[in-house]
Amino acid sequence: MTLTDTHCHLDYNKFDPDRADVIQRANDSGLIRMLVPGLHHRSSREAVQLAESNPSVYAAVGFHPTDLGEFSEGTFQEVKELASHPKVVAIGEIGIDYYWVKDDDKRAIQREILKQQLAFAKEMDKPVIIHMREEKDAWFGDASVDLLTILEEWKNGLQGTLAERPGVLHSFNGTLETAQKALALNFYIGVTGPVTYKNAEEKRNIIKQLPITKLLIETDSPFLSPVPVRGKRNEPVFVHHIADKIAEIHSKSPAEIASITTANAARLFAWGD
Ligand SMILES: [Zn+2]
Repeated sequence: MTLTDTHCHLDYNKFDPDRADVIQRANDSGLIRMLVPGLHHRSSREAVQLAESNPSVYAAVGFHPTDLGEFSEGTFQEVKELASHPKVVAIGEIGIDYYWVKDDDKRAIQREILKQQLAFAKEMDKPVIIHMREEKDAWFGDASVDLLTILEEWKNGLQGTLAERPGVLHSFNGTLETAQKALALNFYIGVTGPVTYKNAEEKRNIIKQLPITKLLIETDSPFLSPVPVRGKRNEPVFVHHIADKIAEIHSKSPAEIASITTANAARLFAWGD
C-alpha cells in the first residue's frame, strides 16, 4: 500500500524528541511522501530543511492567516527565496481565518496578503494550500464567501497546467455547495481526522458526494488525531485511519483509496509518480 500525507507540521516542537522515528514509522507503513507546509518565514525555512534531509518529505512555504504578525517585506522576501528550492511544491498554508481574527481591519489585511501570496504562486507556477476557518466554526459564512471570491478571480487569471491544479482546500470544513464551487475551480479537497469522529455523519455525507479523484488525505499532525488515536499526538502514520474511513464512505478498499489519493497528490504537486 502506498500512501501520502499532504499536510503535516513536522517542524513543530512536539516532534523534537522523536522526529526521525516519526518519519521512519511513516515510511515503514507505506507513506511514500509527506508534505510539510510553512506558517511563516521561520517554519517555512524549517520545512525546507526537513525536506532537504529526508527523501520522502516535501515542503510548502507561506504565511498562515493567523501568523501575519510575522509578515513584512523582508520576511516575504525570505519566503520567496525559499520557494525556488526544488522540494518546495506549493505555496501554503495561506488563506482566511475568521475564527481567531474578528476585527474587520485585520480581516481585510488577511485578504490582501492572501492575494499577494496567490499572485506569487502564479508567478512561481506552484499550487496553493488553503486554510479556511469560519467564525465560531460555522460551516458557512463570510470566510467561505470571501475566499471563493478571491480564489475564483485568481484562478480565472491562470494559464497552462496550473489552471488544472490550482490547489487544495486543506482540512475542509465547509458545506457541500462550497466544496462543489471549489471543485468547479479545479481545487482538490483535503480530508482530515474529524471525518472519523462519531458525530461527523454530516461531514461523511458531504465527502461521499465528492469525487474520490479530487480528495487528498492529510493528518494536520500534530493536531486533529483521528479515531482511534484521538487525544494522542497526531503523526503521519495515522493517515491510515483517514484512508480507512474514506474507503468505508466510498465503498472501496483502503488500498484503492491509498493509491487513488496518492495519485491525486502526485497530480496536484507534480512530484512524480
Ligand atoms: Zn496546517
